[in-house]
Amino acid sequence: MSQDKENNSKDRNDGTNFFCVPCKSLIWEESLEEHSKHIIKEVQSLLHETLERLPSAIDQAVNIIPDLQNQMEQIDTQTKRMEQEVSLLKGEIENRYQLIQTKLREHYQTICQEVDSFVTNVKKTGEITREDIQGKIRFIEDTRRRCSDDNICEVGDALQIENNCMRLADEIKQYPNIIKSTPTDVPELKFNITEDDMSKMIATMYGSIQYDRGSREQKFADKSDKKQVKLLVETKLAFPALPVRSGHKVSDIIQTSVNDVIIGYSTNKVLHYYDRNAKRQKSREIPFYVQSMTTTNTGDIFASENKGSRIMKINSENINLFFDASPYLTFGVLCSRNIETLYVCCQLDKSGLVYALSNDGKVAKTIDTCADGEILFRKPNRIAENPSKCTLYITDLGFKNVISIDKYNVCRFRYDGGPESSNFIPIDVKFCDFDNTLLVSNWKGNSVHQLTEGGHFQSLVISQRDNMLYPTILLVDCLKRIWISHKEKISVVKYTNK
Ligand SMILES: [Zn+2]
Repeated sequence: MSQDKENNSKDRNDGTNFFCVPCKSLIWEESLEEHSKHIIKEVQSLLHETLERLPSAIDQAVNIIPDLQNQMEQIDTQTKRMEQEVSLLKGEIENRYQLIQTKLREHYQTICQEVDSFVTNVKKTGEITREDIQGKIRFIEDTRRRCSDDNICEVGDALQIENNCMRLADEIKQYPNIIKSTPTDVPELKFNITEDDMSKMIATMYGSIQYDRGSREQKFADKSDKKQVKLLVETKLAFPALPVRSGHKVSDIIQTSVNDVIIGYSTNKVLHYYDRNAKRQKSREIPFYVQSMTTTNTGDIFASENKGSRIMKINSENINLFFDASPYLTFGVLCSRNIETLYVCCQLDKSGLVYALSNDGKVAKTIDTCADGEILFRKPNRIAENPSKCTLYITDLGFKNVISIDKYNVCRFRYDGGPESSNFIPIDVKFCDFDNTLLVSNWKGNSVHQLTEGGHFQSLVISQRDNMLYPTILLVDCLKRIWISHKEKISVVKYTNK
């Protein structure tokens, strides 16, 4: 580095130009000051170094051509296999169609039979009533004939006939319309769903296609099944929750290389030190409010300033300014474990970026867009890394998702909350290297999600029913326990995969 600086100053005198590494642009001597916080190289030597490395880079690329050809062949075989499997699937789709058709026809026939037998019953009842009425008429006419022939001589008979006639006449007065006793209302066909709903109902009955592999048995699952959250994890408290003193707001929890757990606050200029069993060790006054902290393997702490632009370096003796990101406000910070890089999440209004800082506090790289120009962040909040894959994971409060970026700034996935996507405000993210999973706190869902490193939802480590309201900061400690900061408490849980 000092060698570089000497070269730089000599070249400046010669009037040669320079190259700013994070800005990826040539700069002239007059504008060196603008880039004073950036890593700058002298053009000729940078070109020389790059040209020396180029043949080996090209060789490496050439070496992968057989792999690429192999992949093309794989595409062909996979396409063929897919075609075969899809034709089986088509059979299933056809079967389902036949089944629904059969059921529908059965239902249609049942309804038709019902209305047919209704008509038959009406006819039968009408016939019976009709015969009854005809019987009465015959009786009345017979009676009149007998009376007109004048052959009634018994008083008993006469009284009986009179009684019967009066009863019949009364009956017709009381029930003037005999018809009413037989049903005359035509049954009506009732639909519970409108024609618009019908397509949804059909989708429910028929099933829908899912493209998510590994859930083949759910091929015809309806939407309510999809909403169900898997609980593959058992959690239990490692010890009673740590109360957070009222007025204090925990902004970060880290563990140092000597296993001290340090808690920082956005509301108090103090750091609290605990041992790994949450026994209070000491407190340390600091001259700023903490937004986020990270620690190096030598025990130094880098902390971003809450509502500020500064990154402070804290060691056992002193506290110094390491970097100033103004006009940006600083959020999550992370010391990379592989390379001597400090990542800093920065926000300004609705735009955001991540700076990669060198160990002398200069910008080595600005991460803001993909190679294709896609904007990566709006409000990058917290950052984690998978050291073995050189992958970064960043929660974004603007996009309300977790984004994964590889070392070439290519976005690998965005996770939008999986089963809780309608209810997802991700605050913190941590990578667990012991099982290659990600943990993400969901402030709005009162939950902690466990994801695969590829960004697929696995399980809820903490769910609504654990009653840890508004979880924010996470720490995965050396004993694989999770420290979770939530409303007025910090809970420490041990979890086991079921
Ligand atoms: Zn620059």
